[in-house]
Amino acid sequence: MTNRNTSLTTMTDPRSQYPQPPFDKQPQDKPGFTDKMDPRPDHGEESYVGSGRLQGRKALITGGDSGIGRAAAIAYAREGAAVTINYLGEEETDAQTLKQLIEGEGGTLNLMPGDLRDKGFCRALVKEAEQVMGGLDILVINAAKQVMQESIQDISDEQFDDTVKTNIYAMFYMSQEAMKRMPAGASIINVTSVLGYEPVPGLLDYSMTKFAIRGFTQGLAKQAAEKGIRVNGIAPGPFWTPLQPSGGQDQESIKEFGKQTPFGRPGQPVECAPAFVLLASQEASYMTGETIGITGGMITS
Ligand code: NAD
Ligand code: MG
Repeated sequence: MTNRNTSLTTMTDPRSQYPQPPFDKQPQDKPGFTDKMDPRPDHGEESYVGSGRLQGRKALITGGDSGIGRAAAIAYAREGAAVTINYLGEEETDAQTLKQLIEGEGGTLNLMPGDLRDKGFCRALVKEAEQVMGGLDILVINAAKQVMQESIQDISDEQFDDTVKTNIYAMFYMSQEAMKRMPAGASIINVTSVLGYEPVPGLLDYSMTKFAIRGFTQGLAKQAAEKGIRVNGIAPGPFWTPLQPSGGQDQESIKEFGKQTPFGRPGQPVECAPAFVLLASQEASYMTGETIGITGGMITS
C-alpha cells in the first residue's frame, strides 16, 4: 500500500500522510472484511509504539476485529493492557489476524464472538470478559450497524430494529453490567460520529443513534462520577474501514470517500488510537462527559 506510515512522531503534512481519494469501487457483503479493502486500512501495525500507559489494565472492545476497534486493540495491547474483543462470528478471520499480531508481540487478546443485538449476550459478554481477564477497567463500545438508504421509505422495520439494537440497546445493557463491576479509575468510551452532530439524509437511522450515544455519554458521566468512573466519547469523521464499502456508503461515495473534509482524505483507524489511549489512561483523570472529534476538520459542535 502506498502512503503507509511508519512513524506517528515525525512531523508530516496531515493531508498527504495517508491515502487520498479517488479510490476504486469495492463492494463487499456486510459485516465487511479488512482483506477486501484497497488500500488496506492502517491500524498502526507498523507505527503505534506503546510506552506503558495502560500497564496491567483490562479492556473490552466491541467491534474490535476491524477498523477503529482494531486500532484501539493494538494500541491498548502495546500500552500494556490485556484486551478482549467482541465481533460477529463471520468475522473470525479478521479476529484471528489481530490475535496473531498481538500475541506474536507477547500481548493478550481474548476472542469473544457473539451478536450484540441479543440482550442476554451483551450482559454475558461483560461478565465473561471480567472473569477471563480478572477485572474490567476499560470498556470501549465501538460496534455499530450502518446501512445507507436514500429515503425513510427504504428503511425496513428490520433495519431500523437492527441499527437501534446494535448501536443503542447494546450500549445500555453493557454499560449497566459494567457499572456494577468496574472499579474507581475505570473508563468507558463510546464511539459516536460526526453524524451525531449533523445527520446526513441517507443515514437517518444511524445518525439518530449517534446523537443518542452522545447524550448517553454525557448523562452516564454525571452518574458514574460518584463511583469515580469516567465516561467519554470519540466522534470520528469519515474513516477508511470495512463498515463503509459493505453498505455504509454507496459505491459512488466510496470513490470520493473523505474528500469532503478540509484535509481532503479519510482518516485511517490508527489516527483514532491516541485518543482511545488518552481517554482510557490516568492522564485523562479530569476528563469525563467529553467527546473528542477526530474528523480531518469537520465540525463537531
Ligand atoms: P468496522 O466495520 O471495522 O467495525 C464495526 C464493527 O461492528 C464490526 O467489525 C462488527 O464486529 C461490529 N458489529 C456490527 N454489528 C454487530 C452485532 N450485531 N454484534 C456484534 N458486533 C457487531 O467499522 P468502523 O468504521 O471501525 O466502526 C467502528 C465505529 O466507528 C462504529 O461505532 C462506527 O459507527 C464509528 N464510526 C465510523 C466512521 C467511519 O467512517 N468508518 C465514522 C464515524 C463513526
Ligand atoms: Mg469487522
